[in-house]
Amino acid sequence: MYDIQHYYEANSVEEAVRLRVEHPEAVIISGGSDILISIRSGDLAGCSLISIHGLDDLRGVSLDPDGTLRIGALTSFSHLTEDPLILEHIPVLAEAAGKVGGPQIRNIGTVGGNVCNGVTSADTASTLLAHDAEAELYGQNGKRRVPLTEFYIGARRVNLEKDEIMTALLILPEVYKNYAGCYIKYSKRAAMDIATSGCSVNVKLTPDKKAIENARVAFGVSGPVPTRMTQAEEAMRGKPLTEETIELFAEHIRSGINPRTSWRASRDFRIQIQLEMARRCLRESIVRAGGVIS
Ligand SMILES: Cc1cc2nc3c(=O)[nH]c(=O)nc-3n(C[C@H](O)[C@H](O)[C@H](O)COP(=O)(O)OP(=O)(O)OC[C@H]3O[C@@H](n4cnc5c(N)ncnc54)[C@H](O)[C@@H]3O)c2cc1C
Repeated sequence: MYDIQHYYEANSVEEAVRLRVEHPEAVIISGGSDILISIRSGDLAGCSLISIHGLDDLRGVSLDPDGTLRIGALTSFSHLTEDPLILEHIPVLAEAAGKVGGPQIRNIGTVGGNVCNGVTSADTASTLLAHDAEAELYGQNGKRRVPLTEFYIGARRVNLEKDEIMTALLILPEVYKNYAGCYIKYSKRAAMDIATSGCSVNVKLTPDKKAIENARVAFGVSGPVPTRMTQAEEAMRGKPLTEETIELFAEHIRSGINPRTSWRASRDFRIQIQLEMARRCLRESIVRAGGVIS
């Protein structure tokens, strides 16, 4: 049995916002794969819930007229792994979603929940961050858009007002067109496990495919929130496709990461694997973009 005080069900985004205002103590539940665990463990025992599970308009992926990819907040991981628009434009996000939990969790867990829980190990977060994704939030005063870099404001804390829900994650066309990427998750077990660390890289090569025009990289568990490594990104501009470039990338990553020791892994171990993940992700992204590393 779950210890739940009240359960409210929203039938529209507006109703969800109204319920948020009327019951500020109540917690949003979407897929429930985090929330129900917290209720069962006692952390959220006795809470009230506002369910947005029925808001089908917030499920699925579409293209806005300007080419912006709109990923509904309630889109499940299973959906992401097979969505034609995601596979065509950002296959690395399908790759990341496919690394979440097991099939049951991928069927029920949502991408919005994965970001709104504010967890640094969230498998889709680093890839979304590495694509300059913006959160679309809806509240009493209407819609606002917040870049994910500003959405994460501290360990398990996100920039979501008491009256708001996340409706979508948005990725602009200039961010995904002509880019190829790679996500690597390192976890203690190959089977269902939270990431000890996750690394997502994407690159755009110069038209002759001889050098890196632009690279973006984000880590999960390199700090309290998913984090972009802007210094390493800057260092890659115009660099040739060589092993020296890959090593230079790792050197810059080293000064950007600051993982902690936890029961899953020590800080030193995390640093070692994060450097290697960065090298492998960059190599693979270059190859997927059509480059040859010499
Ligand atoms: C067995 C198991 C294995 C797991 N493995 C992984 C894994 O490998 N990788 C991984 O990243 N995660 C994993 N998770 C965690 C979880 O499945 C994900 O974080 C999932 O994305 C959460 O989505 P949800 O819809 O179930 O969220 P919920 O549990 O419904 O909500 C999560 C949080 O987000 C808030 N929220 C949800 N949607 C919205 C919204 N639209 N607007 C505002 N707030 C919202 C809720 O209030 C809550 O705080 C695992 C969980 C379990 C139980």
